[in-house]
Amino acid sequence: MQISRERYDVVIIGSGGAGLRAALAAAEQGARPVVITKGQPQWSGGTLSAHYSFCAVLPTAIPGDSPEVFANDIMRSGEGISDPELVNVLAEKAGDAVAYAQSLGVKFDPAEEGGTTPHLGWLAGHTYARAVHVGNAVGRELIRVLLKAVRRAQIPIHAFTSATDLIVEDGVLKGVAAFHIPTGELRIYEAPAVIIAAGGGAQIYELNTNPMEATGDGYGIALRAGVELVDMEFVQHYPTVFVAPAGARGLMFNSGILIPKGARLLNRHGEDFWDKYGVGPLVEATRDVMSRVMSQEIAAGNGTDRGGLYISTRGIDPRELPQLQEKLLHDVGVAPDVQEREVAPGAHYFMGGLRIDVNAATSLPGLFAAGECTGGIHGANRLAGNALSENQVFGAIAGRNAAKWALRQEKNLKAEARTEASVLAPVRELILRSGSTDREAIHPSEGWKHVQSIMQRWVGATRTEAGLKQAIATLNALREEWENRVAARDASLPYNRDIGKALELRNMADTGWCVAQAALERKESRGAHVRLDAPQASAEWTCSLVIRMSAREAIFRKQQRGRVMGE
Ligand SMILES: Cc1cc2nc3c(=O)[nH]c(=O)nc-3n(C[C@H](O)[C@H](O)[C@H](O)COP(=O)(O)OP(=O)(O)OC[C@H]3O[C@@H](n4cnc5c(N)ncnc54)[C@H](O)[C@@H]3O)c2cc1C
Repeated sequence: MQISRERYDVVIIGSGGAGLRAALAAAEQGARPVVITKGQPQWSGGTLSAHYSFCAVLPTAIPGDSPEVFANDIMRSGEGISDPELVNVLAEKAGDAVAYAQSLGVKFDPAEEGGTTPHLGWLAGHTYARAVHVGNAVGRELIRVLLKAVRRAQIPIHAFTSATDLIVEDGVLKGVAAFHIPTGELRIYEAPAVIIAAGGGAQIYELNTNPMEATGDGYGIALRAGVELVDMEFVQHYPTVFVAPAGARGLMFNSGILIPKGARLLNRHGEDFWDKYGVGPLVEATRDVMSRVMSQEIAAGNGTDRGGLYISTRGIDPRELPQLQEKLLHDVGVAPDVQEREVAPGAHYFMGGLRIDVNAATSLPGLFAAGECTGGIHGANRLAGNALSENQVFGAIAGRNAAKWALRQEKNLKAEARTEASVLAPVRELILRSGSTDREAIHPSEGWKHVQSIMQRWVGATRTEAGLKQAIATLNALREEWENRVAARDASLPYNRDIGKALELRNMADTGWCVAQAALERKESRGAHVRLDAPQASAEWTCSLVIRMSAREAIFRKQQRGRVMGE
């Protein structure tokens, strides 16, 4: 098996918003970064899918708005779990991130035709309108300009290169091991600093809004290296995700924009059920509240045969519907004149992730992280529009600090041969098992379906102790089986996507296990974590849960949170 070796100052895993922003910041410090990405950079990551909103307090903000008000909105939505230091940084720096995007060429939709001041959209949970946007495709525009800038700065991007594990020797980070899908080559990237910017993991659920790459690789890689994660029990379910028709399944219907325009939620009998739950007006409901109420209505037997509800746009002028999304829906078989669309809460965003400090440093020296793969900012529930602000603000911080760290380290990075061999062993063995006709072999697509159905059934929008225990036992079995039974159907190496899928499966199983463990440990309901057997929030749990893996077991500690500025 061929192994290649390259050396950089900073290795960045992921070419979404966080990874590309980090690469630019690292290069500005004089470091030599490389971006490795599983996909093709211009079509890779969740950032591309970001529809509408990039929230920030701009110099042209609505009078009364300020970073303090923004920070307090995030804390309120996070239900006491958010890390106030991280929140303050996000709220203060998001305006600079918008200005940076403008400096690279993003033209946000103006408040007035022909003007240059961006229009500010309002989203539930934000005290003031503060979402800048570019049509219905702000993420795509952000990636376009970032990628252009990365190419201009001549930063190498290694596409179709899947990071498999960190190389750590005696507690010292030495680089990253990776699998190059087009050639089947194993790669060692030696570097004193690594940034994980690998996005989220909502693909571990059957109904989800995320791209296929969102398999929780960043969490899996960190867990196997003993790095601390935080708030992993909080998985945001987007309330209105299509369950039908089949072609539209998993696409989100933008309730954030449509409910303020008058869209309503109806059950299978055509009844508007919202008010009977007594949780305040629908227009003010954040995603966690909507998902919780909708799950309850479905559980009460008032869902459709496919386990959904309807969102009705009756009475809204069709020209007010997001046109790009309408076109996409039309293309996948949703008739344009249908005003009741069948939706249910689907996994959308991980609030939890690698625990970072204000320097984007993780618990492993030299390892930094940014974007959705990190935890601590959004607490129990993320407000709409704050993921792009987060990946831009913390992407820049991670890039800058990783570069500074790397430039201070001595250059002798090479790990001992036995360390590298043990890091590469799982991938080597997977390759050697592949193509086997063993009846016991588990193929990656079966493993994917298995994880997705376990997570959907037992660790979804609502949970119970018995279900979580069942999920952990089943995932534990799969984690063990991965090492000797998971195999690609075909043994050939070039472009063997099945090997890539098998590597992702390992991360899906580890990530799912981690979410379920944290959800079992937190014996209360808060934000996106709803325990049917402990339906109230408990003061004892107004803290974060930090989790790390040691010898395959979960080790927990609680972390208390302070206050944000202005409180
Ligand atoms: C449909 C949809 C709509 C959204 N709308 C909005 C919105 O309007 N506003 C908002 O703020 N947020 C929105 N979000 C959320 C937001 O887009 C994401 O949370 C955020 O952009 C994530 O950015 P990121 O850079 O952390 O990760 P991503 O953009 O997901 O990038 C992750 C990168 O890591 C790579 N990667 C993963 N694993 C590996 C590996 N093992 N090796 C190498 N590379 C790897 C991937 O290929 C990808 O390049 C939306 C999300 C979705 C799915």
